[in-house]
Amino acid sequence: MRTLIKGGTVVTAAETMAADVLVEDERVAAVGSDLGAEADRIIDASRRLVMPGGIDVHTHMEMPFGGTFSSDDFASGTAAAAWGGTTTIVDFAVPDFGESLQTAAQRWHDKAGPKAHVDYGFHMIVREVNDQTLADMDSLVGQGITSFKLFMAYPGVFMVDDASLFRAMSRSSDNGALIMLHAENGGPIDVLIERYLAQGRTAPVNHALTRPASMEGEATHRAIRLAELAEVAVYIVHLSSTDALNAVREARDAGAPALAETCPQYLFLSVDDLARPGFEGAKYVCSPPLRPKPHQTELWNGLRSDDLQLVATDHCPFHFKDQKQAGVGNFAKIPNGLPGVEDRYTLLYDGGVRGGQITLNRFVELVAAAPAKLFGLYPRKGTIAPGSDADIVVFDAETERVLSAATHHMNVDYSCYEGRSVRGVPEVVMQRGQVLVDHGKFLGHPGQGQFLSRSRSGM
Ligand SMILES: [Zn+2]
Repeated sequence: MRTLIKGGTVVTAAETMAADVLVEDERVAAVGSDLGAEADRIIDASRRLVMPGGIDVHTHMEMPFGGTFSSDDFASGTAAAAWGGTTTIVDFAVPDFGESLQTAAQRWHDKAGPKAHVDYGFHMIVREVNDQTLADMDSLVGQGITSFKLFMAYPGVFMVDDASLFRAMSRSSDNGALIMLHAENGGPIDVLIERYLAQGRTAPVNHALTRPASMEGEATHRAIRLAELAEVAVYIVHLSSTDALNAVREARDAGAPALAETCPQYLFLSVDDLARPGFEGAKYVCSPPLRPKPHQTELWNGLRSDDLQLVATDHCPFHFKDQKQAGVGNFAKIPNGLPGVEDRYTLLYDGGVRGGQITLNRFVELVAAAPAKLFGLYPRKGTIAPGSDADIVVFDAETERVLSAATHHMNVDYSCYEGRSVRGVPEVVMQRGQVLVDHGKFLGHPGQGQFLSRSRSGM
């Protein structure tokens, strides 16, 4: 099967050129002009950008949380991803207490395999560091799960102490894994939560007030120092604040391998959304919390200067009705997480490129190339070049549309960006040569996505 994507502007992290793309079966065969007309199918890309499929390295499909689950499973969540131009996700597998990481990985394989519409990999969460989990880390690296996330927040649930963190980091210096951290200092945060609730301060906005940016900055700084001691790189997930960014920037200026992602919600939403009247703010409860607007400016600076390497979503949706509403009268009971996997690509194009914050090539780097490189998928994923998987978005960069729960494909009853007007439509979305989305029609099917055995990080 040969497909010719004809007449478009091909954009990668490195260049922008008028070129055709020839796809043979699952791979890109050639990029250039005059590629010959012998194709089984021709996709007209004139006046369109032809860009790599997005890679979202931070999702939580069907994630267990306080007796409920995030509302997208691997079927609905990956279909929504494809609608939005994202053709690869890396999801977080969560072990139960006492469960081997191996068993947890198998559970995630069983969940994702029959359902995923797009290719997927896993990170593994480590909530207990002991001889067994350290040995499990080694074997998972051999099975293509090459990154592990630990928490400095949520005492009694996920948080590990500094000694455990240091042990896991030291192990990663032997097995080549990348350690990812949720960097907020959970101890004092929990004390603040107790205090606020005792004072009757129960509204959603208090979620942000009890998780100050200084505690994210402190944890980020500590994580980087521990990683230096273990002589490994460290990756900070969902970085939300100037405080944390400064810690990363300072380390990078000194030549340390500190890496970080931010998410669209920290670029486009703020604590003002959490402070919306009534219980509306619950829709915006995630951790770290949304910050005051001046942080946004700094995060954009970080994305331009490469102190932040990529944008992922932390997609972890909960319905407003029934799920988020568990926290009426107690903000600490609101499930933490926002929907986002479908909106990242267009939001970052619209707000980032059209908004004059980043170049088009930097956009591709942030949503596809850098995630592929950092998480062991490049150059199979993240670019359009001969030999790469034909994961391609034909992007209509001009057409305006309005983001809304009424039209999105994520299984969640609200949109964080309800009513926001954006330019940009992923018009044709192709994964490994198969068209998943074609001008508003969904052609994918569950089980079509493949598990990606990832290499070690190539940062
Ligand atoms: Zn997360």
